[in-house]
Amino acid sequence: MTTQVSTNGNGAVKSATLYFGSNTFNTSVMQSKLPKEIFNSLKTTLDLGEKLSPDIADAVAHAMKEWALEHGATHYCHWFQPMTGATAEKHDAFLSFDKDGSVIDRFSGSQLIQSEPDASSFPSGGMRATFEARGYTAWDPSSPAFLMEGPQGITMCIPSVFISYHGEALDEKAPLLRSMAALSKSATAMLHLLGKKNVTHVTTYLGAEQEYFLVDRELYEQRPDLMLTGRTLIGNLPPKGQQLEDHYFGSIPDRVLDFMQETEKELYKLGIPAKTRHNEVAPHQFEIAPIHEVTSLAADHNLLTMETMRKVAERKGLALLLHEKPFAGINGSGKHNNWSMGDSTGKNLLDPGETPESNLNFIVFLVATLKGVHKRAAVLRAAIASAGNDHRLGANEAPPAIMSVFLGEQLDAVLNAIERGEVKEASAQQFIELGVSQLPAVSKDNTDRNRTSPFAFTGNKFEFRAVPSSMPIAIPNSILNTAMSEAIDDMREAIEAEMKQGKALDAAALEVVRKEVKATKAIRFEGDGYSEAWQKEAKKRGLPNLKNTPEALAIWNDQSTRDVFTKYGVLTAEEIDSRYHVRLERYVKDVDIEIKSLLLMIKTQVLPACVSFQGEMAGSFSELVAVNKSLKLPAKAIATQAAALKSLATNISLLMERTEKLEASLAGLHKGGLEAHAKHCANVLLPSALAVREVADALEMQVDKDYWPVPSYLDLLFKM
Ligand code: ADP
Ligand code: MG
Repeated sequence: MTTQVSTNGNGAVKSATLYFGSNTFNTSVMQSKLPKEIFNSLKTTLDLGEKLSPDIADAVAHAMKEWALEHGATHYCHWFQPMTGATAEKHDAFLSFDKDGSVIDRFSGSQLIQSEPDASSFPSGGMRATFEARGYTAWDPSSPAFLMEGPQGITMCIPSVFISYHGEALDEKAPLLRSMAALSKSATAMLHLLGKKNVTHVTTYLGAEQEYFLVDRELYEQRPDLMLTGRTLIGNLPPKGQQLEDHYFGSIPDRVLDFMQETEKELYKLGIPAKTRHNEVAPHQFEIAPIHEVTSLAADHNLLTMETMRKVAERKGLALLLHEKPFAGINGSGKHNNWSMGDSTGKNLLDPGETPESNLNFIVFLVATLKGVHKRAAVLRAAIASAGNDHRLGANEAPPAIMSVFLGEQLDAVLNAIERGEVKEASAQQFIELGVSQLPAVSKDNTDRNRTSPFAFTGNKFEFRAVPSSMPIAIPNSILNTAMSEAIDDMREAIEAEMKQGKALDAAALEVVRKEVKATKAIRFEGDGYSEAWQKEAKKRGLPNLKNTPEALAIWNDQSTRDVFTKYGVLTAEEIDSRYHVRLERYVKDVDIEIKSLLLMIKTQVLPACVSFQGEMAGSFSELVAVNKSLKLPAKAIATQAAALKSLATNISLLMERTEKLEASLAGLHKGGLEAHAKHCANVLLPSALAVREVADALEMQVDKDYWPVPSYLDLLFKM
């Protein structure tokens, strides 16, 4: 485990500004490579989110190819996000032959715009029978093409959506783009009503704080559970875990810093604005956070960040763990999803402004967010459901499975005053008295943070903290945006109705805000989200508390939930069914792999080791009994040693019994339909696996370390 620190691959340290985005076909490259008219018309297409016309496409493709070849690229691919939780790419060489049979590099407009990857093996949740496998990928021009450096060459990647032959989304990106368009429409209409007539569109922004673990690769490769499932299925925490809180923000070990710096260099080349790096709470846990960007771009960039980290870790002899709960007993990993909306004039809609009008707008969008989370709490919970995240949500860890919103003391007080009718007009004086214009400073103050809240206001954005560390952010954000569109539209209609009754705009808006503050009160919670008292309180308030993935995903069968997604054109009924199916099936597969990995380890590693050690102990015990004829130890001494051996033997037998039981339950997995399988996983298999683990972990404390067949938590978490 030697630490190799290279200050920088090629000598001197360079400022990131000198090469930021150098591997992307970004606006300035386009500007320099494209004729002026083509560039302008491409820019308009991008700004308006319109389709690219074929003649522009040919010119863009040509420029892209020239640029890629100059940088040494030999291949191109459409890079997309199928419903596997990962990215996909199928490379094609530029290499081609012309009419005379001479070898040339070719890349046309149609190859840029569309590709047919014959992608029959991606999950479609039954939307597409494999015999009609024709899905196609289409360039998403809102995300720039980029160069991916491989060990022997460079590939140009074209960020794309993945659509079935009949137009259904087979990926995570298309619904995200649709949800952003829906939110833009709803928020723009609201702003127009509120008097901001010059706003043309609204964009959502996202900054994803990515948590992860790093472990030594040699040790990782000795653990089938880590290799196959991303988490440890057995293992005891050593006496020291995270209780001293000495790791969080501590000095970063050189080996990790080396990894981080190389990762950042790769990210900068890809135009990914990595900004923050630090140690997290658990040993060997770290975080990387970028500067926020338009959500669709942030979604691509987060996936590229995860992929880049994985590759760099491998090069550095490390293994990257993105699983939500790699180790029992210490913190797991999440991906804090910092979300805001900004209008076309550059105004952040969640930033309390300094004038009464902007304060009112802020309050309207803030309350709309409460409304969206309140009404659609269950589907937001479903959005972040996965086998991995079940170990955090609803498992006494951050954050709870109950959706709630934290606003901070001062904002909470403002809303209470509005509810009591103490705010009578949107005047400067009223807002100054309430202190709304000082809110950003107050809410950004770390003392006013609630780390137990799944959805917290942090000054000028909301932080959706319950997002799983390994999940593509396109999934939760398409759902969040949809819930928000609905809430904003409902409020706009209510304000319009008040105005029809004769109220002026401000008074109408304040009245609707007051009603909504009252109606959404149940979702606001400022206290300790981990406490048992909150579980009880939330139940009284009627908030859903969906403990596991099958329970959470069931909301997709609810008609009102389905209606909102079809109404906003984010998901068709068929796409909803397919997603429900894919996610549930993924859950069953994840659990199935875990159970089989656990059985593999117990049967071929742990039990044989324990039995060998038992043999040694039994041998030494009988020798002791033999020599005791002359030693004449008191009976109690012999009995104590006999008891130790007996306890070991008892646990080994218990482990055998529980393992057999688990194996028998696994055989029951494939009876009944998918929903029955998922329930069987949650209610039978996982508890049964935990019972196996309990004995295995007890045995780890009874067996000579030299016999223990896999690296321990101590090895994994304290050796670097
Ligand atoms: P904090 O420590 O308050 O959570 P940081 O400034 O460290 O805030 O930001 C955390 C993440 O939130 C970063 O990725 C940052 O870019 C992002 N962020 C900041 N402002 C916004 C915003 N208006 N919209 C979305 N994300 C934002
Ligand atoms: Mg934060």
